[in-house]
Amino acid sequence: MALLQISEPGMSTAPHEHRLAVGIDLGTTNSLVASVRSGVAETLDDDNGQALLPSVVYYAQGELPEVGVTALEKSSKDPLNTIASIKRVLGRSAEDIQSANDYIPFQFENKIDSVPRVKTAHGPRTAVEISADILIALKDRAEKTLGGELIGAVITVPAYFDDSQRQATKDAATLAGLNIYRLLNEPTAAAIAYGLDQSAEGVIAVYDLGGGTFDVSILRLRKGVFEVMATGGDSALGGDDFDHAIANWAIEKLDSTIREDDITMRRVLSAARQAKEALTNQSAVVINVEGYASLELTQEDFEWLIEAYVKKTIMACRRALRDADIEKDDVSEVVMVGGSTRVPLVRKQVEKFFDKMPHTDINPDRVVAIGAAIQAGILAGNKPGDEMLLLDVIPLSLGIETMGGLVEKIVNRNTTIPVARAQEFTTYKDGQTAMRVHVLQGERELVSDCRSLAMFDLTGLPPLVAGAAKIKVTFQIDADGLLSVSAQEVNTGVSASIEVKPSYGLTDAEIENMLKASMDHAQEDMVARGLREEQVEADRVVEALNSALVKDGEALLSSKELESIMNMRDALIEVRNSADNVDQIKQAIKNVETVSEEYVARRMNNSVRSMMQGRKLEEFEQ
Ligand code: ADP
Ligand code: MG
Repeated sequence: MALLQISEPGMSTAPHEHRLAVGIDLGTTNSLVASVRSGVAETLDDDNGQALLPSVVYYAQGELPEVGVTALEKSSKDPLNTIASIKRVLGRSAEDIQSANDYIPFQFENKIDSVPRVKTAHGPRTAVEISADILIALKDRAEKTLGGELIGAVITVPAYFDDSQRQATKDAATLAGLNIYRLLNEPTAAAIAYGLDQSAEGVIAVYDLGGGTFDVSILRLRKGVFEVMATGGDSALGGDDFDHAIANWAIEKLDSTIREDDITMRRVLSAARQAKEALTNQSAVVINVEGYASLELTQEDFEWLIEAYVKKTIMACRRALRDADIEKDDVSEVVMVGGSTRVPLVRKQVEKFFDKMPHTDINPDRVVAIGAAIQAGILAGNKPGDEMLLLDVIPLSLGIETMGGLVEKIVNRNTTIPVARAQEFTTYKDGQTAMRVHVLQGERELVSDCRSLAMFDLTGLPPLVAGAAKIKVTFQIDADGLLSVSAQEVNTGVSASIEVKPSYGLTDAEIENMLKASMDHAQEDMVARGLREEQVEADRVVEALNSALVKDGEALLSSKELESIMNMRDALIEVRNSADNVDQIKQAIKNVETVSEEYVARRMNNSVRSMMQGRKLEEFEQ
């Protein structure tokens, strides 16, 4: 396997010059910044000694945005100008957000638009702008604490973030004035924080249940090198769902009209969250909502309310193991990440499933930021010679459309990234001077069953006969999961390319559905593919025959011969369009070939003769 060099050669620093680099966990619920100081990675606190910065921004008219605890306090007074959970919509289109059923606690300015803008007292703000406000707060905190300007940052993202979500995260960092070294998957960062690269070889499962996302990653550790074998999870499942489960339960008991009242709704949610967190160390809690009777919630009731969510995470773990092609027993370490892994039922179920005591020693809220800080330190060149290696995987196969509406996969799912793969294609028609490259994502055989990511044209091809042009299509996926596709005609060097940033993200449920559909339809897809391929072959035969007939059909054939060839050709066209099995088309193609055997022979003789004549002429001229 090819090794990656993470620190640039010659970039290592002398011990006295320490470059200020940070790791940032830009969370749905909470964000953190951490840095390596005197060889130890630690989270950086705010003035009040708090490491966790609530990922909440408050926009008051005529004032700078407020971020964190003070913003969170405004949420019940001025909910419409208090933006929380913005990560849920980062890099996603309005259309996608509308059709999703996640709880989106704010209003959009424009409903159907490629860039959703949230209504605030500062006017409409995009998710990138709001995320940048959070990053600015963390950057300011870090520069104040570390006493200098930052030279770079590593920002973490959920493993399942797609290209556009990753790109939006990068855009937010740029807007915040951060130099971003790279994006790092959150579970991978956690494994680094636990220093698991120092231990013996093994397989590590990272279970990350935060406020808004669930990720599970199966990492393999070999000779101090991490490889991500598989990832899974649900980008719309987390502790927020526990809060809502408790809130719904409470509202049913109190007054169902609460739902229509934004402010009380937020109060109930915040009480629900406090109750949930208290249940980590208590067997029962009392929930108080101003103006309503108090309610008691027992651990048992709570577990009953959230059981289905926890089960869902365990199912995703099972899936990830299957994707990694390993058994539960092969997992040597389990790492717990995210505030919601403090919930006793979560710990119990994870331990039961893996039959192993999970790692919980590092604070589960901070472990990701700490891992990111270690990585940032290496990238800044502060730890020369550290060969830590991180490999991630792509969740769905990527490929292009070929004739007949078929998909040719170029990079298979679960391939480790970064990766570059190339494949050669050719033109289909004589004299074709352009080719359309249609980039697709998914496991199915037909274009119509896959997800369209991008499309571009390679134009200015030399008009050659069908099959003579050589077009090399290259897929390149960088360490952050961004895809670029290029197409080049090998002989002339004519090329075109595209950077793929899908207009909306895929949820885990969608990925899962796509995988499931490919398994359910495997047999029929194979039959459909075979049929389409034969249809393409039929078209090619008809095309070639037609172009020959135009050139010399009348010169080389009697009208009777011409007629029988054309009859067979028409029969082939008829069968191509109506056949439901490959053999019928194969037979019709054979019939055309048989009837035109004599014609092909005459054409060959003719072209040999004209070549000879050409040569004689040249010789004569010399
Ligand atoms: P994210 O990665 O989404 O920003 P975090 O990892 O910070 O999320 O986790 C936040 C979630 O953890 C919230 O839903 C919060 O209520 C939950 N949480 C924090 N502490 C506890 C606790 N003691 N018991 C249960 N849940 C908790
Ligand atoms: Mg998190």
